[in-house]
Amino acid sequence: MAQVQRMSRLMVKTLRDDPADAETLNHKLLVRAGYVRRSSAGIWSWLPLGKKVLENITRVVREEMDAIGGQEVLLPALLPKEAYDASGRYEEYGDLLFRLKDRKGADYLLGPTHEEIFTQIVKDQCTSYKDLPVILYQIQTKYRDEARPRAGVLRGREFQMKDSYSFDTTDEGLTESYALHRDAYIRIFERLGLDHRIVSAVSGAMGGSASEEFLAPAPAGEDTFVDCPACEYAANTEAVTFRATPADASHPAVEELDTPDTPTIETLAAHLGVPASATLKNLLVKVDGEIVAVGVPGDREVDLGKLGEHLAPAVVELVTAEDFVDRPDLVRGYVGPQGLEKVRYIADPRIAPGTAWVTGANKPDTHAKNVVCGRDFEVDDYLDVVVVRDGDPCPKCGTGLKLDRAIEIGHIFQLGRKFADAFQLDVLGQNGKPVRVTMGSYGIGVSRAVAALAEQTADDKGLCWPREIAPADVHVVAAGKALQTELAIEVAEKLSAAGLRVLVDERPGVSPGVKFTDAELIGVPQILVAGRRAAEGVVELKDRRTGEREELTVSEAIARLS
Ligand code: ATP
Ligand code: MG
Ligand code: MG
Ligand code: MG
Repeated sequence: MAQVQRMSRLMVKTLRDDPADAETLNHKLLVRAGYVRRSSAGIWSWLPLGKKVLENITRVVREEMDAIGGQEVLLPALLPKEAYDASGRYEEYGDLLFRLKDRKGADYLLGPTHEEIFTQIVKDQCTSYKDLPVILYQIQTKYRDEARPRAGVLRGREFQMKDSYSFDTTDEGLTESYALHRDAYIRIFERLGLDHRIVSAVSGAMGGSASEEFLAPAPAGEDTFVDCPACEYAANTEAVTFRATPADASHPAVEELDTPDTPTIETLAAHLGVPASATLKNLLVKVDGEIVAVGVPGDREVDLGKLGEHLAPAVVELVTAEDFVDRPDLVRGYVGPQGLEKVRYIADPRIAPGTAWVTGANKPDTHAKNVVCGRDFEVDDYLDVVVVRDGDPCPKCGTGLKLDRAIEIGHIFQLGRKFADAFQLDVLGQNGKPVRVTMGSYGIGVSRAVAALAEQTADDKGLCWPREIAPADVHVVAAGKALQTELAIEVAEKLSAAGLRVLVDERPGVSPGVKFTDAELIGVPQILVAGRRAAEGVVELKDRRTGEREELTVSEAIARLS
C-alpha cells in the first residue's frame, strides 16, 4: 500500500502566472503545476509530481516492450567517437551532437541515439543465427543540441527516450520485428490515452527503407502531416512524394540563373553584416518580402548564399533564423554539403497554388527562378522537395487531404544492413557461412509523451491526466476547518488501503479556493472534497474532466473510486 501523499509535505510550488519564456500549453502548465523546472535551455529537472508521470509512462512502455520479447539493457550515454566515425554519423550529425574530450584528449560524445553501440554489443554477444532474432531496448537519457529547444520538455536537449533495436538474419525476420514494434506502439499509445496517427515518414539521416511515425495531433506540434478522410493514407509532409498542382499556362517560364562562385561563410556574413559565427546557423531567403527558402549552411561553403548573393541586388533579403522561428509551418529546408537538399512549403495561404519559387537545386551550380514543382521537375529530381496544401488530392484515392499539426511521439525504422555493414555484423548461418544481420530501430519520446499528453488533455483550468498516467488516482481536498481536515485524512487513508494512489490537500491555513485551483491545475482525474457536509460524513466527488459533481457518503465514494 502506497503512502498517502500529503500536500503539506509535497515539494510543489504552483504558480499563478505563466512563465515568461513559455509558448506552448504544456510548457506553461507543467511549470505552473510544479511538475518540472527549467535548469538551462532545453534541460529540465523533474520534480516529484513530474517524476511520477514520467515513471507511469515508463512503466507502460516497459511492460509492452517486455511483452514482445524485448530485453531491457542500459548502455552508456557517454560514447566514444570511434563508433560514430565507423557509421559516418560523427560528421553527419553536425551541430546536433554534444562532443567532449576526456583528460587525455580522447574524443567522446553524448549519445543522441544508439544504433552504433547496440550493433557493437550484438557483434560481441551473438555469433550464430541461433542467437537471433533479438530485440534489445533501453529507457535512457539522450542528448541532442537542438537548435530550438523552446517548447518545454517537448523538445529537450537532454531528454528521455525508449530506444530499441531488432537484429534478424532475414528480411522476413526484420518485417516481423517491425510489425511487433508497430503493434506494441499502438498498445502503448492507447494505454497512455494519446490520440495518435501512424503516418509514413522519411527515413532521413537514418537511411534504410520502411519507416513510420506515430504522431499525436496537437497545435503545438512541430510536424505537419496529411491525412486522407476517405482512405488509410496518412503521411508526414516530409514523406509526401506526390506532385503539386501544376502551374497554369500564364505562369512564367522557368529561368536558369548564372551562378557565381559559392561564397564562403565570411562572404555571406559580410553580406548580412553579422559575425561569421553562430548567427549563420539558419538563413532565410525572402523574395519580395516572401520567404522562399531556408537553409542551414554546410561547413564552409553556403550554397544558399550563392543564390542569395546572386539575387540580392534585385529581390532577395537574407535574414537570420529568428524570422523563421515563428513560422515553422511555412518553409523548411536544409542545406547540406550538396547544397539545398530539402525545401517544403506547407499550407501557407499567401502562397497560391502554382506559385513559383526560387530554389537551389541538388544539381551543382543549378539555380532557377519561377520553378514549379510538378511542371518543371519531377519531385524525385530534387531530394524531398515537397509542396503540400490543405485539400491537395490524396495520392491513393484523390480525395482532398486534411493537413494538420502534430507531435512526433514515436518512430519506427527498418534500417536494413546499413549499420551491420559499417560494423561488419555477421553471424554464422545455417549452412555454416556468415550472414549479414539486418536491423530495425524504434524510438519513443518518453519525456516528450508527457508534454504531448499535457497538450492533448489539458483545459483552461490546468492539466487533466488520464488515470493510468496521473500522479495520483484521487486528490482529496480538505475544504474547511479541523473537522474537514480530519475527514479528508480519514478518507485518504481508506482509499489508500483500498489500493488507490492518493494525494490529500490538508495544508493548514490555505483557503479552499486556493486548494481547488491547485487541484484543478495539478490535474488528478478525481477530486474528492470534504466540505460543507463533513459532519454528516458526506463528501463531494468531482470529475476533473467533465466537472460533474456528486455527493456521496464516505463508503459510497470509496466503492465508486476503487
Ligand atoms: P524531431 O523530428 O521531433 O526532431 P526526431 O525525428 O529527430 O524528432 P528520432 O530520432 O526519430 O527523433 O527519435 C525518436 C523519438 O525521440 C522521436 O520520435 C521523439 O518522440 C523523441 N525525440 C526526439 N528528439 C527529441 C527531443 N529533442 N526532445 C524530446 N524528445 C525527442
Ligand atoms: Mg530531430
Ligand atoms: Mg522527426
Ligand atoms: Mg523521427
